[in-house]
Amino acid sequence: MAYVIAEPCVDVKDRACVAECPVDCIYEGKRTLYINPSECVDCHACEPVCPVEAIFFEEDLPQPWAHYVSVNAEYFEPSSQEGPAGAPRGDHPLVVALPPQSHPKKRISVFTARKEEAADADLWFPF
Ligand code: SF4
Ligand code: SF4
Repeated sequence: MAYVIAEPCVDVKDRACVAECPVDCIYEGKRTLYINPSECVDCHACEPVCPVEAIFFEEDLPQPWAHYVSVNAEYFEPSSQEGPAGAPRGDHPLVVALPPQSHPKKRISVFTARKEEAADADLWFPF
């Protein structure tokens, strides 16, 4: 069992989860990130920081994204990535085939943080 990154990460890729992972098992593709299931130690640290709720424990994946267990695992098989061996990592073919993804800005934490910072600034500098 391992944690899995599902479709909401595609074209977001803010890397918030990477900083939380104690074993550095989250890897970056061109359009999304992937968790190596053979390295993940199921610590749960990454899941709460994802601004778009893209990370799930394998058994808790919503049904529409159930295939992302394979997407994450297969990404670490060199033949599943685009481009020649040794080239910068691409993406799993299923991710490559996705149309551009858009996400409601209000669900992305960076915008929330900026909004809160602006409110704090108004308190300290009201004029
Ligand atoms: S559950 Fe822990 S070990 Fe697994 S990807 Fe998330 S932070 Fe890394
Ligand atoms: S925190 Fe979520 S959206 Fe950000 S890179 Fe990780 S999985 Fe993708």
